[in-house]
Amino acid sequence: NKVIVLYRRPAGKPVPGDFKTNIEEIPIADNGEVLLKTRYVSVDPYLRGRMNDTDSYVAPFELDKPLQSGIIAEVIDSKHTQFKIGDMVLGNLSWKEYQVSDGVGLRIIPPDPEYITAYLGVLGMTGLTAYTGLTRIGKPKTGETLVVSGAAGAVGSIVGQIGKILGCRVVGLAGSEEKVELLTSRFHFDVAINYKTEPDLSAALKTACPNGVDIYFDNVGGSISDAVLNQINKYARVPVCGAISLYNDAAPAMGPYIQPVLVKKSALMHGFLVSDFADQFNEATVQLTAWLKAGKLTYHETIVEGFDHIPNAFIGLFEGRNEGKMIVKI
Ligand code: NDP
Repeated sequence: NKVIVLYRRPAGKPVPGDFKTNIEEIPIADNGEVLLKTRYVSVDPYLRGRMNDTDSYVAPFELDKPLQSGIIAEVIDSKHTQFKIGDMVLGNLSWKEYQVSDGVGLRIIPPDPEYITAYLGVLGMTGLTAYTGLTRIGKPKTGETLVVSGAAGAVGSIVGQIGKILGCRVVGLAGSEEKVELLTSRFHFDVAINYKTEPDLSAALKTACPNGVDIYFDNVGGSISDAVLNQINKYARVPVCGAISLYNDAAPAMGPYIQPVLVKKSALMHGFLVSDFADQFNEATVQLTAWLKAGKLTYHETIVEGFDHIPNAFIGLFEGRNEGKMIVKI
């Protein structure tokens, strides 16, 4: 039974040596417990924050203890009345091939093979983040211009599509030609810009947003966000979802230095955690499922295979190696 633990706290960008694999006995389910076999592991940028020994909204990971993330697992033995062998469950579980659980926090997911991994993405945490952050804070109106950074990722690709469904002009920023192509061809963005090769991002944004920017859904922070924020309109809304470009900095510069623009434009910049909007999860899930079934919404996944590759897949998030949701299949 392989178990991946945090061996040392990453300094800057995580490297494979920050992780270690231990071998343990496969545990046995006691009364009131289930034995789970890990099937799909979600790797997410926020895990980087939990690898630092600093105060945050979730406790830091402990050294030499298993890492955890959203996992879909199969019940392979059950001494729990609510779960039976063969059930697929979703939970915040450990990076272990096999583990026991008392069932607390586990949710049985419908046995729908077409959608199973979607519960880690569009119908899971990242889809709910996209839906709630955009609708609650972005409050899009028909004809407005929405700019999305990290646009080809798990959250960004859903934000952009919802923006289109709700009648916005949608402009996406992403870091490769393949991603830019994916944004316009598959996700129906009006314009996509490769921020890595575009020599003048501000000029490209100006061309892409002739009526300015009404909503900026920020996944990355840093200089990309500065370029967008300089072009916001009066009463713009800025859902601050994440800042991946800063997560590996030891001491990120304290900003934003964009206050004069926010004042001048009477703009709202609003950081959020998806859990802030738990009251909307049912509505969001019903709506996202309906759009998926109607073919109005689609999703993309980068599937890495093999338990040993979980750390590498996680590191890949900081190198832009994923299109859509990054998932490890065991
Ligand atoms: P993604 O699927 O978007 O994966 C990360 C992507 O970020 C990479 O593919 C890469 O794309 C981009 N990236 C990596 N490094 C940089 C950099 N230095 N500058 C700019 N872009 C970079 O991840 P998620 O969709 O899961 O998460 C997106 C953001 O949303 C993250 O900041 C995350 O922390 C946040 N988040 C917040 C939640 C909340 O509750 N507030 C919940 C879930 C996510 P590219 O090739 O385009 O550079």
